[in-house]
Amino acid sequence: MMKYVIMIGGVISGLGKGITTASIGRILQSRGYRVTAIKIDPYLNCDAGTINPFEHGEIFVTDDGGEIDLDMGHYERFLDVNLTKKHNITTGQIYGEVIRRERKGDYLGQTVQIIPHVTDLIKSRVRQVASESNAEICLVEVGGTVGDIESMPFIEAMRQLSLEEKREDVAFVHLTLVPILDVVGEQKTKPTQHSVKQLLAAGISPDILICRSRIPLSENAKRKISLFCNVPERAVISAHDIENVYRLPLLLDEEGLGDLLIERLCLEDRGKNISRWKSIVEQMDQATKIIRIAMVGKYIRFPDTYLSINEALKHAAGVNDCKVEIDWIDAEGLRMDEDLDRLRGYDGILVPGGFGQRGSEGKIAAIKYAREQSIPFLGLCFGFQLAVVEFARSAGLKSANSTEIDPRTPYPVIDLLPEQKKVSEMGGTMRLGAQEVRIAKGSLAFRIYGKERISERHRHRYEVNPRYIERLTKKGLRFSGKSVDGRRMEILELPGHKFFLATQFHPEFKSRPGKPAPVFDAFVKAALERAKLAVKGKTAG
Ligand code: GLN
Repeated sequence: MMKYVIMIGGVISGLGKGITTASIGRILQSRGYRVTAIKIDPYLNCDAGTINPFEHGEIFVTDDGGEIDLDMGHYERFLDVNLTKKHNITTGQIYGEVIRRERKGDYLGQTVQIIPHVTDLIKSRVRQVASESNAEICLVEVGGTVGDIESMPFIEAMRQLSLEEKREDVAFVHLTLVPILDVVGEQKTKPTQHSVKQLLAAGISPDILICRSRIPLSENAKRKISLFCNVPERAVISAHDIENVYRLPLLLDEEGLGDLLIERLCLEDRGKNISRWKSIVEQMDQATKIIRIAMVGKYIRFPDTYLSINEALKHAAGVNDCKVEIDWIDAEGLRMDEDLDRLRGYDGILVPGGFGQRGSEGKIAAIKYAREQSIPFLGLCFGFQLAVVEFARSAGLKSANSTEIDPRTPYPVIDLLPEQKKVSEMGGTMRLGAQEVRIAKGSLAFRIYGKERISERHRHRYEVNPRYIERLTKKGLRFSGKSVDGRRMEILELPGHKFFLATQFHPEFKSRPGKPAPVFDAFVKAALERAKLAVKGKTAG
């Protein structure tokens, strides 16, 4: 059996299609079904790896080294599954393959066209991924909104798929916006009506409408949408604003979405169990203690750039009964001592991944501050590399640097990975995906993970230069995690510091609600400790 739930967006982008798709998946899982998900990105890039994070937010990395749109992260977090790069289909991949086949002569003299050649390939990719995944239900999210030129071949392919499969095997969900006009305070349904019309023009009649609005949809709005959009009233679902995105599956289920899908897809009733998810969400929401984390980066105006980090912090806060407040600190603004003093009030300092020279000195200054002032510090990828630079400088290697920032530095403590030296193409060529890391017993890292072998996801071209390892170690820096062959430094820590840890890998990608990434859990615990001391200090003073 394979059932498909196809999500197509309308009205405007940015309504949270990814989170909504992931939530539908969670609901179906709670009904006892095995679920997988595919994200279609209608851009011409082969993957998101070459896209500036200003444009689309974070690049999510899968175990198999896929560099994918951030929605893949929502799927993994909500469904608690590990997906692969095959679960992401882009226009670039499809056209690339069609053109390759044409050159090979596979089309035997035919004129190669969008219909049927491109649409056939899209359908076969979707079916292949679905059948290989061992799932019973496959969610397909078509990126963009109905009416976009770019999305058309994909929407058309989904129409064809629904025609070829049995009617009870394919359901279409349409996500729209119901704005409220300030003047009259009324929920306006016209944009939804227009959007559905556009979908109908593409030959698709939506089964379920999920309507985003600031507040719950009024009965009146539901009735109107049902009437004008040819969808039963109970299939008009309200997805109003909520503070915690992990609550969305609960909200949609209360709105009846689970029952509707079971009915529409003719699924057998296997009972319902959403209580574990509910208790995770409730623990997150009930916390009253607050910790404040300073995130020092360069893309601070685009919080989506670090989406998985934000989520990992939330997961860790949730299980530690606190909430986390993240302040974005522009690394370029950290030049003078008084700038750095702003960091004093935080319970933890986090320097995330990044690329290039801009803001790097500010990040290094923040790391130095965390080290000297005993503030819990977590460095990730670029943050790990800059922690090495900072330590090297303070250990006497003046103007040590990464060759990514200063190719002529006298002390290149961070340098290109040897295999990267020959690489000329940008796309998909970093050290990517899951790699095994060996952890030294007796280290902080070992206490955090509780085992000697772990697997974490990577995305980098530079590494600690092996020539400097001995010197740095002698000065007190501990590399407590290394690659299996012992050549690559993966985790660093500073014995004696309250909490100073950095990883060459990205632990944030494997964090899940209720099961935070161990590194984040430990960082949040350290921050919580500092927050408690600050309160005590205040009471005593
Ligand atoms: N720019 C660094 C490298 O390529 C770090 C990358 C990252 O933070 N993801 O190695």
